[in-house]
Amino acid sequence: MLSPPVPVDENSRQAALDELDLLDTPAEHYLDTLVRLTRELFQVETVLISLIDRDRQWFKARIGLEAMETGRDISFCGHAVAARSPLVIEDATQDPRFSDNPLVSGAPFIRFYAGQPLYSRSGQPIGTLCMLDPQPRGLSPQQRFHLQDLGTLVEGYLQLRSMSQQTQRLRQAVDREQRKALIDPLTQLWNRAGLAQFFPREYAAARDAGLQLGVVFCDLDHFKQVNDQFGHAGGDQVLWESARRMAAALRPDDLLVRLGGEEFVALVSVHDEAELQHIAERVRSTIGATPMSIGQQTHNLTISIGTALTASGENQNAVLERADRALYSAKQQGRNRTVHASDLT
Ligand code: GH3
Ligand code: MG
Ligand code: MG
Repeated sequence: MLSPPVPVDENSRQAALDELDLLDTPAEHYLDTLVRLTRELFQVETVLISLIDRDRQWFKARIGLEAMETGRDISFCGHAVAARSPLVIEDATQDPRFSDNPLVSGAPFIRFYAGQPLYSRSGQPIGTLCMLDPQPRGLSPQQRFHLQDLGTLVEGYLQLRSMSQQTQRLRQAVDREQRKALIDPLTQLWNRAGLAQFFPREYAAARDAGLQLGVVFCDLDHFKQVNDQFGHAGGDQVLWESARRMAAALRPDDLLVRLGGEEFVALVSVHDEAELQHIAERVRSTIGATPMSIGQQTHNLTISIGTALTASGENQNAVLERADRALYSAKQQGRNRTVHASDLT
């Protein structure tokens, strides 16, 4: 196996990547959409946005792979980045650089690989948009253009993102080391500690904008049955897909958290209760709209939701408890519904 060479201007390359403040950040809906679309377009098993960090490749977006990162020394993308050019491997078992690579000889048994380098504004290759498949195959000239175009869209998004207010705010709130402890590895959403970290800020931001902070407390219905029927790995897939669907139903500035198990909380700034209920209903219907795919099988899933508006001066635990009581009532009333805390007597 040949490990990827270290680029000559590695320090500037790493600096360009660090400058983007992308590593160890939660999944983002636009990039998730792009990798999903890429997978559909090319009909491959896995699509990743891989960032080449000091000694690892870390995935900012991924579909079809459970790992959050792998070592840089065994990465295919490290080669594309070092070469600063697209890399297409039709059958990794036939390529001496990769034939004994553990990602080829073991899971995910890569045969086909195609990676398009992603460049920073300063022209440094920071990672790739890449695809993997356990079957050998090639890319037509037209498909190579498509991959390049999709890479351009990722670059454009990353550049705009680095200039956005939201990124600035996140930068001020927590540094990268802190961030790592606030992200749930399975769903790549903020975790419970992330909620505690961000609640006061979200509350203050809503108040300053003349809005109220709404809590959308979600719990998947009969999730234990998913595990029983499809195994723990199948359950994990459903959790991942549910997280993507919830994010899609929310707005870019809403904060989505995996509280634990199959419980999720979204913090949303709203004008009033009607707006909060509208958002919660959108989350509920996006979960139930189409069956979840688990490997080759599908499963109809629903979700129950309790909502509450944070009262003036109310703390996180108090408002979450009210939303949780509303959720409990939604379960009692037969699940697959939304109940608002103010409707409880
Ligand atoms: P209800 O409609 O009342 O919410 O029923 P439920 O089956 O969804 O709720 P219950 O609390 O009985 O079961 C939740 C299950 O979620 C039990 C637990 O094994 C499973 N679970 C928790 N965390 C994970 C996880 O990370 N992965 C998987 N696959 N399962 C998990
Ligand atoms: Mg639960
Ligand atoms: Mg449940």
